[in-house]
Amino acid sequence: MKKGNELLLLLFFLLFTNSATSQEIIAHRGFWKTEGSAQNSITALMKADSIGVYGSEVDILISADGVPVVNHDATVTLDGKQLRVEETPFNILRQVKLSNGEPLPTVKEYLDAFEKCKKTKLIIEFKPHEKKEREVELAQKVIEMVHARGLQDKVEYISFGIHFLHLVRQIDPQAKVYYLNGDMSPGVLSTMGVAGPDYNYNVLFQRPQWVKESHELGQKVNVWTVNRSEDIKTAIDLKVDFITTDEPLLVKEILQKQ
Ligand code: MG
Repeated sequence: MKKGNELLLLLFFLLFTNSATSQEIIAHRGFWKTEGSAQNSITALMKADSIGVYGSEVDILISADGVPVVNHDATVTLDGKQLRVEETPFNILRQVKLSNGEPLPTVKEYLDAFEKCKKTKLIIEFKPHEKKEREVELAQKVIEMVHARGLQDKVEYISFGIHFLHLVRQIDPQAKVYYLNGDMSPGVLSTMGVAGPDYNYNVLFQRPQWVKESHELGQKVNVWTVNRSEDIKTAIDLKVDFITTDEPLLVKEILQKQ
């Protein structure tokens, strides 16, 4: 082979391996730190898609009457009263307004909007419930809705709850599910069929070897919620696969400078 061709091949190889190790961005609760948006709103999902990030994260729970809804906390505040989402019927939850004026969305509405997204994946976080049977109902209903829309290749799941990891594995063995709680090694996660750790940055910064171990096991590593420049740079140097952030544009900018 001629010297020039060898150099070209080397160049292609370097370019390819570089892009293969670059990190992806997940907008935490959507892209909400922008005009007209709000955490976990449908606007935040569409805005995440408009800036072309890998994923838009969303938190979900189930109402007392079995409607999967989007909300971060176990409770909502309505007319000064705190109500537990899992103990409140949907017609009451519906009266809750997000900070941008949108009504608290259902998962169905969220998926309807998500069908129009061009680039971003949806990262669905199953929030823990008091009763295990509510978790079963939520996982079954949501995974069924995802499949009915043919969105299964564009949706990934995350949870702090080990019960949800098992549920996702049972209901949809092809689906990717990541574990959030930071207390299990990549080796243990692999025995459970989990796609990888999705841990707080403090955990992974203290245990950088877990990133390497995960990769050796064929897992992907996600880190949350990384918002400060110095932490974003540390996460990039750690070679995690995904960075979950409230500052997707800042992460984008830092990644582009690398
Ligand atoms: Mg979340």
